[in-house]
Amino acid sequence: MHPLAKLDRQYVWHPFTQMRDWLAREPIVIAEGKGAVLRDVHGREYLDANSSIWTSLHGHNHPKINSAIQRQLKKIAHSSALGLANEPASLLAQKLVEATNPQSAIRNPQLKRVFFSDDGSTALEVALKLAYEFTRRTRGRMPGRASSRTAQPKFLSLEGAYHGDTVGAVALGHIDLFHKAYSGLLFKTDKVMSPFCYRCPFNRARPERADAREYRKCNWECVGKVEQKFSARKKNGDSYAAFVFEPAMQGAAGMIPQPETWLKKVSEIARTNGALLIADEVMTGFGRTGIVAADVRRLISKKKEKLEPPHVGCYDGNLFACQKENVQPDFLCLAKGLTGGYLPMAATLTTQKVFDAFLGEYHAFKAFFHGHSYTGNQLGAAAALASLEILRSEKSIRARQKIETVLRDELKQLWQLPNVGDIRQAGLIAGVELVKNWRTREPFALRERAGIRVCEAMARRGVLTRPVGNVIVLMPPYCTTRAQLSKIIAAMRESILETFGK
Ligand code: PMP
Repeated sequence: MHPLAKLDRQYVWHPFTQMRDWLAREPIVIAEGKGAVLRDVHGREYLDANSSIWTSLHGHNHPKINSAIQRQLKKIAHSSALGLANEPASLLAQKLVEATNPQSAIRNPQLKRVFFSDDGSTALEVALKLAYEFTRRTRGRMPGRASSRTAQPKFLSLEGAYHGDTVGAVALGHIDLFHKAYSGLLFKTDKVMSPFCYRCPFNRARPERADAREYRKCNWECVGKVEQKFSARKKNGDSYAAFVFEPAMQGAAGMIPQPETWLKKVSEIARTNGALLIADEVMTGFGRTGIVAADVRRLISKKKEKLEPPHVGCYDGNLFACQKENVQPDFLCLAKGLTGGYLPMAATLTTQKVFDAFLGEYHAFKAFFHGHSYTGNQLGAAAALASLEILRSEKSIRARQKIETVLRDELKQLWQLPNVGDIRQAGLIAGVELVKNWRTREPFALRERAGIRVCEAMARRGVLTRPVGNVIVLMPPYCTTRAQLSKIIAAMRESILETFGK
């Protein structure tokens, strides 16, 4: 066994990992990476088919991000945002505001302020605390009630939701396997049906060899459920403070994609009922859910015009999933791909209205008492600025468009496999759900480790990804070539056949 593997086994505790299984074998120890390829200490190469847990946008060792970090390193690595400003963080805040409020779609509310933190979980904690306190400060008390119900603002999130592992984020989550054990630590949130067409009890369609969204037979009962939830709360004399959701696709829930217009519909219901919208784009942000063709044409024709703020149409390439349905949230949580997958950094964007609710005389103590040591870190911000620059380049836009199409074409061959129940794609994200029998949608029990076994077989073929239960996740870096994508799909196909037989 490699000495570094021994060291790991002796000292490191890995996340979301049964360490008894881990200790039973030699782990893959990554030594270096380039583009979509990771190399281990034995010199073996692997394709990074989930972009290192959904973070690496442009691939590893990208020359532009490397040099942005190196340039920043010559100046300073980190100074505190408590009491001090710095150049890359200020510039990044400006660019994020531009990117999330494209000029072609002036919507209300506008995201105007950026609060930096460290990772997806902390981005959600910030949104949660801000929404909570904003609601307490701004909602009127119920007439005749000494202690208003809004003294305890309530949150609504989706079934199967996962928003991170810190305690607030866990409270918003609804995956029993991860969250139930900690229920004693958590505050109560409500959950509502998420639009999971493949396993929806209201979908009357029999299974077909296509994405369940395409052939579903229903009456949008999932939207009705959201409506009912808000009505019930209203009857109770209150409204939710905020509705929290992942737009386009719920990731850790099992790569659950939303049928078109669902987001628009439920956002309108939430708004009508006075709830704030908290969009978790930790996974879906920065182009992961694909590009709209018309936007690509517009973007490329504009690229040489050198538009400066407020003329920021050059970002119209829909970098965020909410923009695809013209939904502008009150809070937008970003992390993972923010730095191109280089450094842990996150951002929570919000509106002027929320910001203003925390203004006041010093002695009124209305400040937002929250922050982290590495808030606004310069190296992270420098990497993020370089990543945004790459994202708006024509080369990146074309590459993303190509990957989306090739992925769609290549995935089709998997429908031939009887153990593939559903193939769900949202842009450059795909989930392949393994089942015992596609005609009945019968799932594998978790203890059968179906997803893990297939991923282990894929690793033996030089392709790395991690399953979510019985769902194999593909989320390639944007530099992945056509040949590499073909290799990923071929490895998945062979691995499914090897694991379950023909
Ligand atoms: N939100 C979503 C949608 C996520 O997918 C994740 C991580 N998988 C998180 C939040 C938490 O992010 P982090 O692991 O960076 O804390």
